[in-house]
Amino acid sequence: ENPMSRPAASALPPGAAIPRRGLMLVLSSPSGAGKSTIARALLEAEDGLEMSVSVTTRPPRPGERDGEHYHFITPEAYHELVRTNGLLEHARVFDNFYGTPRAPVEQALAGGRDVLFDIDWQGTQQVAENARADLVSVFILPPSVGELERRLKTRAQDSDEVVAKRMAKALDEISHYPEYDYILVNDDLERSIADVRAILRAERLRRQRRVGLADFVNAMRHAED
Ligand code: 5GP
Repeated sequence: ENPMSRPAASALPPGAAIPRRGLMLVLSSPSGAGKSTIARALLEAEDGLEMSVSVTTRPPRPGERDGEHYHFITPEAYHELVRTNGLLEHARVFDNFYGTPRAPVEQALAGGRDVLFDIDWQGTQQVAENARADLVSVFILPPSVGELERRLKTRAQDSDEVVAKRMAKALDEISHYPEYDYILVNDDLERSIADVRAILRAERLRRQRRVGLADFVNAMRHAED
């Protein structure tokens, strides 16, 4: 056999694990559907999953810490990030700007770590356009319209006007459910958490994430010699 017909020896050393590219797990929902509770439980339960910390121009709410819930930045800093392509996606929500810093996400994916996103439909659409292969999107629905209304009204710190705005935004958000890969009806929190974990588990196994597989096959060919 002509050895020239074989591919060059692989960069994958014997004994090395087959690398996997990380994925982007997007959770979207109208506020009041239980998304942040599910996200928190997911981060606690799953190794190799980190939260993407967005930038926002809105002021922090009581209890929110800079760099943890958001990076709270000025409109000027936000526009500079947009201009320099520092954001993976960005959108205006209500009267504020939000965006996902690009660099931490790219580092995580290349390192085989998964990233969890709490972004709205506008951001999800942008990620779908630019990085479809890495995206897994889950839309969380409240169990009923009445329950959604009740949950939106029991956020004590918000005024009537804010609640009305949030109801309008919830309707806007929900109308985009057909653009998502998975739909979860959150009528049982434990069940919903288990469902998202099942989605993550299966999606981690997708062939397209096994970026080192060709090298693995090459290494096997050479091991046969
Ligand atoms: P809140 O101000 O209540 O924290 O978030 C309001 C909305 O903005 C939520 O629907 C949340 O998913 C969305 N959001 C938060 N961060 C981002 C982001 O970086 N990009 C986009 N597109 N939406 C975001």
